[in-house]
Amino acid sequence: MVQGTEGYRFQNWASTYSCHPELYFEPTSVEEVRQILELAKQRSKRVKIVGCGHSPSDIACTDDYLIRLNKLNKLLQVDKKQQRVTVEAGMLLSHLNEELASLGLALSNIGAVSDLTVGGVIGTGTHNTGIQHGILATQVEALTLMTAAGEILECSDTMNPQVFQAACLHLGSLGVVLNLTIQCVPAFHIHLQQFPQTLTEVLNDLDTHLKQSEYFRFFWFPHTDKVTVFYADRTDKPVKASSSWLWDYAIGYYLLELLLWISAFFPRLVPWITQLFFWLIYSVKGEQVNRSDKAFNFECLFKQHVSDWAVPIEQTGKALGQLKEWLERNPDVRAHFPVEVRFARGDEILLSPCYKQNSCFMNIIMYRPYGKELPRERYWAAYEQIMKRNGGRPHWAKAHSCVRQDFEKMYPAFHKFCSIREQLDPSGMFLNNYLEKAFF
Ligand SMILES: Cc1cc2nc3c(=O)[nH]c(=O)nc-3n(C[C@H](O)[C@H](O)[C@H](O)COP(=O)(O)OP(=O)(O)OC[C@H]3O[C@@H](n4cnc5c(N)ncnc54)[C@H](O)[C@@H]3O)c2cc1C
Repeated sequence: MVQGTEGYRFQNWASTYSCHPELYFEPTSVEEVRQILELAKQRSKRVKIVGCGHSPSDIACTDDYLIRLNKLNKLLQVDKKQQRVTVEAGMLLSHLNEELASLGLALSNIGAVSDLTVGGVIGTGTHNTGIQHGILATQVEALTLMTAAGEILECSDTMNPQVFQAACLHLGSLGVVLNLTIQCVPAFHIHLQQFPQTLTEVLNDLDTHLKQSEYFRFFWFPHTDKVTVFYADRTDKPVKASSSWLWDYAIGYYLLELLLWISAFFPRLVPWITQLFFWLIYSVKGEQVNRSDKAFNFECLFKQHVSDWAVPIEQTGKALGQLKEWLERNPDVRAHFPVEVRFARGDEILLSPCYKQNSCFMNIIMYRPYGKELPRERYWAAYEQIMKRNGGRPHWAKAHSCVRQDFEKMYPAFHKFCSIREQLDPSGMFLNNYLEKAFF
């Protein structure tokens, strides 16, 4: 019989949320997962699965039973012909990237970090950029789910298709995702280029940029009109180190943390720090060639609060313009750089921020230099208002203040997801505080 551990404390990556589950489990088999769910049912306990705990919210927190699938992390099957792999849900993306590289394969798109589990990535709608590419879950061809009753459901476009549409962004609310089959592509290198522009220029040329570069994104530097454009494109060229020493941002980040900590006492410094860093790092033209996963990932060296909403792509200019205007009208509010602007193709996943619409994600950030909290409430509230006004939907992993009434307006298929959830988990075994706000 699987044993749980008492006294475990879970904390998310940004150290912004934590919990003390009554029992903590690391099952080594599917049968052990079933036993834990059975025990929870007998004792009327709730259950949460945690991946890497990278979500900057309390979405993975519980006071009852917490399960980490770090021992269910194997590559189960390779279909070389169809370029598909089946993996256990606890596998890290970093591990998967290496396995794929050894098979001459790769994921067509991944986010900024790979210290995430495959099950967790589809828990919250992790995305990167590229208007031909959907959120990462659109690469999933099939998955296996264990429901609260301990039943195993195989889901894909042909088996339990309705559950599949829901489970590709499951919020940890439908059951335990055990395995996933992922569509891969032949391994590829990426040619990265960065160059400066103004916000007006980049918004005027948005369509051209989107066509010009497969994985186009940009950073806007609040309190300025400055932008750094990033082009990332497939190439046959061999790996080539960065053409600028500043491509490796490590030194810059240590200086940034110190300066932002000082700015806690002198907030007027924030726009100056932004200008300094734009000039030092982001106004410089640069390029490099790297293996795809290494090119998509970058080091996030210190802790931060983030909020990341998707607006319909047509609203990009309006939403960013309104945010810029609001900051200009409220100069006492200091916003950290960058606002990262990324794009994703529309999809059919019920709770995807890109459900049925090509979208633009605008990620705002407030750093926590050496753990110090800096005021962000007014900035966050204004940003949310602007995103809502422009038809936005929040990233499920990141900070937002939305409740069921908001989601009902945002998501045409919200009720459909709720009824699937209620069928699969009638007693609410997989609920927690975060999900209660979303569903009740
Ligand atoms: C430094 C950093 C960079 C990031 N970059 C990006 C980015 O570029 N793009 C982006 O979109 N997001 C980004 N994120 C957010 C991140 O991708 C998501 O929060 C992702 O869901 C985290 O994966 P995880 O494995 O840590 O899952 P967790 O945060 O541990 O869990 C996420 C959800 O999935 C559930 N869950 C996990 N595994 C299972 C399972 N097997 N079965 C059932 N439920 C499960 C959990 O209960 C929870 O509800 C970033 C976060 C950080 C900290």
